[in-house]
Amino acid sequence: MAWSSASHPDRLLLTRQFPIGPDRLPEFEPIMQAANRIWNSCVWHSREIREKENRWPNEGELKAKFKLFKVWKELHSQSAQAVVEEYFEAVSGYRKHRENGHEEMQPPNFKPKKHLRTVTRKKQGFDVRPDGLGLKRSRGKDPVSVPLPAGWNVIVLPDGRSVTGTPVEVKVKAIVRRRKVENLILHVTFDLGVVPVRAQEGPVSAYDYNSALVARATSAGVLDLFVGRELLAQIQYRNKVLAEFQAKLSRLREGSRRWRRLQAAKARVLEKLDRRIRPMEHALTKALAELDRKEGIAVSVLGDLTGLRRSAGTGMKGKKASQKIHQMAYDRLGSQQGYKNLRRGIRTIFLPEKYTSSTGYACGRRDPSSRRHRGHWKCRRCGFSLQADLNGAGNLLKFRLAENVVGVPGPVSFHTIRHWRWDKRYNRYVHVSSRAGA
Ligand SMILES: [Zn+2]
Repeated sequence: MAWSSASHPDRLLLTRQFPIGPDRLPEFEPIMQAANRIWNSCVWHSREIREKENRWPNEGELKAKFKLFKVWKELHSQSAQAVVEEYFEAVSGYRKHRENGHEEMQPPNFKPKKHLRTVTRKKQGFDVRPDGLGLKRSRGKDPVSVPLPAGWNVIVLPDGRSVTGTPVEVKVKAIVRRRKVENLILHVTFDLGVVPVRAQEGPVSAYDYNSALVARATSAGVLDLFVGRELLAQIQYRNKVLAEFQAKLSRLREGSRRWRRLQAAKARVLEKLDRRIRPMEHALTKALAELDRKEGIAVSVLGDLTGLRRSAGTGMKGKKASQKIHQMAYDRLGSQQGYKNLRRGIRTIFLPEKYTSSTGYACGRRDPSSRRHRGHWKCRRCGFSLQADLNGAGNLLKFRLAENVVGVPGPVSFHTIRHWRWDKRYNRYVHVSSRAGA
């Protein structure tokens, strides 16, 4: 599943997966390996140009060059172009990380010769048929037909409405375990059009994501605290395991037998850990979206952490910020919550978190020292006292309603604080207590 606001904030895109079976590999293998060769050519030519001219080539340059290659002709031209685009996406991700002080990042590298690259097809790269898809190949070759079950393009929204999606992107991905292709998976991204959302002046909820806690504040005066220690523990364990692998890998020669074996083990272990983490993340974002739906929320406000990330790697403040950032995948959680909200007719907006954690909600006095031990906020001026993350969520709500944080009194008085915790038996969040608050 995916959500994108590239063309319109309320345009809903969803991705669905269809297993197509490992026995169709002979049809897909040559296409996937051709795509892999184009990727490797990208790596090769970029290296050459960087060594000779000390610059990165651009997308158009490589596309034009590769059009003359034989391998380019083995793919539908759009799929071939998509490989070059994906390469440049990886390069810009790498450069951004380097600029942010992540010296350990490596530029996108060669893939093994036999690697089965996921091939992307945009609109012109496939035909939609009544019973499935025809995936185009290069000119002169017949498309590969993929039959799909009835209702493959019908999506049921949380309110029970069915919508027929228009496929806009198709990918074929190979699932490889221990060098064996276990399955081929077709990923189809559907455009469900612009979804009607609730009136923008309606009720607002604001969220402050923190390592083990998600704090929520609403314009109806309710505060919620979601305690997610289990999720955090899993993520920290994953990060620890990853760091251990990285340390071992850095002592080996890149591309050597032992290095390759360790890389494979790393991928296996991380995949296993992610299979535990992802459902918990989905349960969390679903619980938040459902709460918003039930309470008639129109706009959901999330903190935009881009500014924080930029400061990573600069002094103590940055170090602390980067530690915080690297614990949870806030980007992923934010976009998950965004598409789940949109499916429920709720718009999600991202606002900067500047001053939200250093300002008192009630009177608007900015004073970082009011954040006392154990995450409690007690204002030195007016005495207002609240769990610090709830104070932060309140400030994000204030920012949406009053367009400022510092020097502005809280626009809503909070009357209830509810606590939620993770229930292992049912894999969901349960409401544990409510009390009068703030
Ligand atoms: Zn105060």
